Amino acid sequence: MDTPWAYPDFDSHEALHFVTDEASGLRAIIALHSTHLGPAAGGTRMWHYADDADALTDALRLSRGMSFKNAMAGLPLGGGKAVILADQDRTKSPAMIAAFGRAIDRLGGNYVTAEDVGMSVGDMIAISKQTKFVAGLPAEGGEVGGDPGPHTSLGVFLGIKAAVRRALGKDGLAGLHIALQGAGSVAGGVARLAAAEGARLSIADVDSRRAHDLAAETGGQVVAPEKLLSLGSDIVSPCALGAILTAETIAGLNAPIVAGGANNQLETPADGERLHARGILYAPDYVINAGGIINVSTEYLGDGDAALVRERIEAIPGRLEQIWATSAGSGRGPAAVADAMAKRLIGRG
Ligand code: NAD
Repeated sequence: MDTPWAYPDFDSHEALHFVTDEASGLRAIIALHSTHLGPAAGGTRMWHYADDADALTDALRLSRGMSFKNAMAGLPLGGGKAVILADQDRTKSPAMIAAFGRAIDRLGGNYVTAEDVGMSVGDMIAISKQTKFVAGLPAEGGEVGGDPGPHTSLGVFLGIKAAVRRALGKDGLAGLHIALQGAGSVAGGVARLAAAEGARLSIADVDSRRAHDLAAETGGQVVAPEKLLSLGSDIVSPCALGAILTAETIAGLNAPIVAGGANNQLETPADGERLHARGILYAPDYVINAGGIINVSTEYLGDGDAALVRERIEAIPGRLEQIWATSAGSGRGPAAVADAMAKRLIGRG
C-alpha cells in the first residue's frame, strides 16, 4: 500500500492521526487538512469501508472539503474530518465512542468534531463526556445547537433561489420543477421549503419508502433513481450521495441548474468544467451546503444566537453570486472559481 503522502487525494494535510483502541476495537483516522483559519472542524463519519485505503481516501477528501467549506463560509475554523472504520454490521459500543472521545481530547483542540453519516446526537453527547472539543449537542431553551440538517436545507433552498434568479431570471420557485435526489434529512427540508413556495417536486431515493413519504407530504411525484437526472426539470438538486456528476451523467443532464446539498458532487474537477461547457449553472457544493457547519460553528464558538445563525446562512446566496459573476468573467466554471477562492483564504493560493 502507498504511504499517505503518495495518495492522489493527499493535499499537504497538516496531520493524519491513526487511532487504535484494542480493548474496544476502535480504529479511526482523524485528518487535519488545515488549521490556518482556526481549529480543524468537521464531523465524524462511521462507515464500513471495503479496505483501509478507501477509509484514508475518504478522510483526506472530506477534511480538505471542510477546509474549503469553512473558509468560504467566513468561519474562523480550519478543516478536518474523522472516519471510524466500522465492521460490516457497523457495530458501535459505548467503549468505542468513549475511546474515540479520548483520542479527540488528546489533540488538545486542534480538531473539533460533530455528527456525520453514521453518528448521532447521542454519540456527540457520549463524546462530550470525554472532551470539550465537540459540537452538534442538543440545544436547550433557545440555545444554538442540535441537528445541523435543517440549517443545511435552508442554505440549499436559498442557494437554489439565487441560481433561479441568475439562470432563469425569476424570483421565487412558484411553478418550477425540481428533481430532488434523496429524501433524507437535507432533501426533506429542501422539499418542504420549496413546496411551500409552489415548486413542483420529483423525488428519487434508493429507499423508496422514504421517497413516497416525502412525496406524499409535499405533493411531489416519485421517480426511479436512475431516471432523475435526465428527467427534464428546471433544477436538479443532488441531496444524497457524492460523485454523482460524472462525464456520463453530465452528458445526460436535462436541467439548466444543478444546486443541492450533497458533499463532493463532482467525481473529478474536470466535471465542473463539463457542466460549465454545457451551459449548466452549478452551485459549488461546499458553498451552498454550509448552513449546517455555520450552526455547528456558532454553537461551538458561542459567538452568536439563532438570529445570527440565520443571518450567516442568508449570506450563502451572495457568496454564490460572487462566484458565478467571477466565473462569467473568467471563462472558468464556478467549481474551479470557488476552489481558487478557498485556497487563497486558507493561505494556499
Ligand atoms: P440522510 O442519510 O438523511 O439522507 C440521504 C438519503 O439519500 C437517504 O434517504 C438515502 O437512502 C438516499 N440515497 C442514497 N443513495 C442514493 C441514490 N443513489 N439515489 C437516491 N437517493 C439515495 O443524509 P443527509 O444528512 O440528508 O445528507 C445528504 C447529503 O448532504 C450527504 O451527501 C451529506 O454528506 C450532505 N450534507 C449533509 C449535511 C447535514 O447537515 N446533514 C450538511 C452538509 C452536507
